[in-house]
Amino acid sequence: MGYLNSNPTRDGWFGDYGGAMLPPPLEPHFKEIREAYDQLSKSGEFLGELRLIRKHFQGRPTPISYLKNLSDLCGGAQIYAKREDLNHTGAHKLNHCMAEALLAKHMGKTKIMAETGAGQHGVALATAAAYFGLECEIHMGEIDIEKEAPNVTRMKLLGAQVVPVGFGGRSLKEAVDSAFQSYVAQAETALFCIGSVVGPHPFPKMVRDFQSIVGIEAREQFAEMTDGQLPDIVAACVGGGSNAMGLFAGFIDEEAVALYGVEPLGTSSNLGDHAATITYGADGDIHGFRTLVLTDEAGEPAPVHTVASGLDYPGVGPEHAHLHKIGKVNYVAADDKEALDSFYKLSRHEGIIPALESAHAVAFALREAPKNPGKSILLNLSGRGDKDIDYVTETFGFGSE
Ligand SMILES: *Cc1c(COP(=O)(O)O)cnc(C)c1O
Repeated sequence: MGYLNSNPTRDGWFGDYGGAMLPPPLEPHFKEIREAYDQLSKSGEFLGELRLIRKHFQGRPTPISYLKNLSDLCGGAQIYAKREDLNHTGAHKLNHCMAEALLAKHMGKTKIMAETGAGQHGVALATAAAYFGLECEIHMGEIDIEKEAPNVTRMKLLGAQVVPVGFGGRSLKEAVDSAFQSYVAQAETALFCIGSVVGPHPFPKMVRDFQSIVGIEAREQFAEMTDGQLPDIVAACVGGGSNAMGLFAGFIDEEAVALYGVEPLGTSSNLGDHAATITYGADGDIHGFRTLVLTDEAGEPAPVHTVASGLDYPGVGPEHAHLHKIGKVNYVAADDKEALDSFYKLSRHEGIIPALESAHAVAFALREAPKNPGKSILLNLSGRGDKDIDYVTETFGFGSE
């Protein structure tokens, strides 16, 4: 049996990580979600509906692009990008949002709700809600609201209610707390749609399954472009870890493919300056599951920083903590400067403006390519950078040649 079929366990454990630590009032609701997903994930009707949505609404399959100019510039490995920036709404997140909303619809829910960091999950979920005729409630930190104003406008246009979160660090972590609290009060009629491979079971598994379309497509497309070969190196940025798990899903049983998750190193390796949870974190519990966590001296989730709001989380998906522990995936980090440099380079040399999140994966490829002549690197371009252009140019200018 392959890795994906044997992980997680029925109770949602990836080795020592995962599980579901729920407040008692939520237990029956998560049981309902688990049972619904168990059944629907085997239903030809559900999977068939999802297939048509992916094709006719999302615009899948997204292509793989060979980044010839950057490959030439680096003078080593050949670099390829899976273009999730071309998925409708401009990022991979719609892959799980459409499926979560379809699940909500099948469960008879009237509302979907969530937190959002960069606003990408909020936009994707609001899009899914509009498509299915569901209500939508999105919690977002005030700092992110300011930084990602166009996404707030999009959510409102799509008919979602945006709830600003003004306590603590006013960012993604607080938005999760706020959204969860609101959900407890309306779990009968609403489905909480988690935005990554995090949260209590079954979300890490469910979101991975919904994102695996990225890896399934990529494997076939890469083979078609290269006379049947597999990439030597596959890389993706890791915030919660959903775009990475999606791409890895296509290659995880291949010993010959080296998998890399790229974490945000922010401005330095000091606690508070980065969000490199696997690199610097320790075992702990956060938001209802066990994983690696960045904690402060009091044992609370630490403040984190990265130029990419979507990677701004002091925890990480439990499956990544497990894959790190068993050595199946390598985890490395790229800092703000490298991400920005890559943001400018991909824009200027390839005509693709990447999301700052995805720029971390590009940074890794640019760093590794010169050391790997004759090899190939496939990176996940998880999203487009339109949402980031004002912030980047106003703060850092237009980059040097
Ligand atoms: C949200 C986001 C991420 C980070 O989320 P993962 O769950 O780690 O994939 C990465 N890239 C983009 C473009 C995003 O919007």
